[in-house]
Amino acid sequence: MRKDLEEELREQAHPNRLKEYPLQESEDLCQMNQNNNQIIRFEEITKVYHLGRIDIPVLNGVSCEIKKAEHVAIMGPSGSGKTTMLNIIGCLDKASSGRYFFENRDISSFDDDALSEVRSRKIGFIFQSYNLIPQLTVLENIEMPLFYQQVDEIKTREKAIELARMVGLEDRIRHRPAELSGGQQQRVAIARALMNDPVLILADEPTGNLDSVSGKEIMKLLCDLNERGTTLIVVTHDVNVAKYSRRILKMLDGRISNED
Ligand code: ADP
Ligand code: MG
Repeated sequence: MRKDLEEELREQAHPNRLKEYPLQESEDLCQMNQNNNQIIRFEEITKVYHLGRIDIPVLNGVSCEIKKAEHVAIMGPSGSGKTTMLNIIGCLDKASSGRYFFENRDISSFDDDALSEVRSRKIGFIFQSYNLIPQLTVLENIEMPLFYQQVDEIKTREKAIELARMVGLEDRIRHRPAELSGGQQQRVAIARALMNDPVLILADEPTGNLDSVSGKEIMKLLCDLNERGTTLIVVTHDVNVAKYSRRILKMLDGRISNED
């Protein structure tokens, strides 16, 4: 049984839990129930990079909540902190201060190993420049997330083929990235992101290098996944891409300046 599920069941099975707890704790429990459909909560997140003795503040107190199965677009000028925010959400980077709750668990103080565990079990990434490994075939690229995990090779291969089919690339599985168009490479990246059955997909300018027709195809794929329940966060410059989502967070100078 999955460890997190095991923990959850153990907590639920605890009899007289409410009776045993003093008022403060039962209030916390109420709060937790209210937050049950929340996947991400940022409380006053800051990020400061250090270059030698110079501090570069990049996020200046970001607070926001994102619900399970939401589709959120993050917009804002270059340098406003969008990628930094996405990297912290995706456990690729750590905040300098503030609290980050993922699925109601405070993961702000997790070390690198614990964060990479969250990332590899829960999160799929899609980047503007696809980040495929040029020497590997389409199929091998899709299999990458399970490469270091103890998963049966045949099952891994079957799953990668199924995902290649889902993104419409079943006839390209032996090709290498350089032999594919940008749109096709991004579809490989989407299939790769789905290999670990993520609950959250983070896409940083996913259509930034694509023509408008391929961009639409990619957004359609991402929206289909979202409609089937995967939470989707897309960073974009493009208003037409942001329009696919119901909620737009606008960033300016390391803060959320506005919400549509
Ligand atoms: P956006 O994605 O909105 O363009 P970023 O989050 O990439 O913005 O960057 C925000 C600011 O942080 C920029 O001014 C950038 O130069 C700076 N920055 C990003 N990463 C680093 C880093 N590793 N070291 C120092 N400064 C960084
Ligand atoms: Mg960026």
